[in-house]
Amino acid sequence: MRDGWTDWSSVKRCIDLAAVATDLLGAPQKCGGAGRLWWLCPLHPDRNPSFCISPGRSEWRCFGCGARGDAADLLMRVRGITFAQAREALTARAGGIASPSRWPIDHPGPRAATRAEAPKAAPKPPPGLSLAEALALVADAEQRLWAPDGAAYRACLLRRGLTEPTIRAARLGWTPGVRVAKQRGGGCFPAAGIVIPWFEGVRLTMIKIRQPEGRQPKYVEAFRDGPRLYPAPSVVRPGMPLIVTEGEFDALLLAQELEGSAAVVTLGSASARLDPAILWLLAGSGPIFTAHDADEAGDRAAAGWPARAQRVRPPGPDKDWTEAARSGVNLARWWHDRLGGIERPVRSTWEELARRRWGSGPEDETPGIVIDGPRPPRSLAASGVADSLDPYARVERAAIMEFDGGLAREDAERAAGLSTRGNSS
Ligand SMILES: [Zn+2]
Repeated sequence: MRDGWTDWSSVKRCIDLAAVATDLLGAPQKCGGAGRLWWLCPLHPDRNPSFCISPGRSEWRCFGCGARGDAADLLMRVRGITFAQAREALTARAGGIASPSRWPIDHPGPRAATRAEAPKAAPKPPPGLSLAEALALVADAEQRLWAPDGAAYRACLLRRGLTEPTIRAARLGWTPGVRVAKQRGGGCFPAAGIVIPWFEGVRLTMIKIRQPEGRQPKYVEAFRDGPRLYPAPSVVRPGMPLIVTEGEFDALLLAQELEGSAAVVTLGSASARLDPAILWLLAGSGPIFTAHDADEAGDRAAAGWPARAQRVRPPGPDKDWTEAARSGVNLARWWHDRLGGIERPVRSTWEELARRRWGSGPEDETPGIVIDGPRPPRSLAASGVADSLDPYARVERAAIMEFDGGLAREDAERAAGLSTRGNSS
């Protein structure tokens, strides 16, 4: 074990302690005199920030509970990992993975805070909204979602399987239109739709706007300041399985369904690359499952994660987790099977199928009535003839042929007279 270990005290000198604290605790709540940074202490109930880091020091100190230590102590206590694990993670961060000369400059956290403190030292304006505009957009969009005219967007989110508490906790919203500065050449373009904010602690790191179907591009990035993981790096827990999805909605849905059993994160898209500087944040996490969409782009994105990650495709024929949930897959049961070591959990158990068709059984208040039939597939909705064809009978027939007849979804839909050729999406 001796070889391969760099001398800890020399590694320690290369560590940007403020950056480590920002990763673990979010942006500092207060920037004090002499460049001191203050956080609410993670080790005791703290009302006023009393956890302090002074510039250039490799030790932190809490003036509330008296705790003190170095970067490894902080990581151990916040993440609940051993010294060896903390040392390994921090060595990786300071050494090979992100060179100490480069990493702190790239890091937006404490430096951004210090910069904001300096009078008139405005950073050069990035494309997109300013921070003030971005924060205003988040607040406005959130309020609109829960106002009467947000009903359509609320319904759209609920149809995706998200519950109201999930939507509120994620601070989703909608905007009828916002003008976003273009990357180059100046000018603005309008964006509208569901507003998805990314936060790290209280710091806003990104705003994405999911535009309605038919508008291009599908996603607009309205604000960006060093986003890393959605919903936040802090959801990664020691020993707990970590699931990586392709998009934010899938991440929210799985996190909601698997609360307490797994942490769920996303980089936001299939094309986003995993920043090596965040690998260390995964130290101590349980097994990693890359659950990107079931297509080539998803496979490529999954391959960018560490070798210990296991690729998990959504149960076919669904392309992603939202689709799987919509078509009746019980995500909590499916994933508990998968986390429990079953390589290929069944798409639906007999019990689940029966419950979907006949109700939940003796405890059902309305016995004999189908309480949750399969939803009409998109091809039917898109064809515009759903109402004239007794769609329910056809959908049910397709579902029976799919589940009981073992047909692929497409074949079952075609056999039931549902699919309209060349109009499947
Ligand atoms: Zn304390």
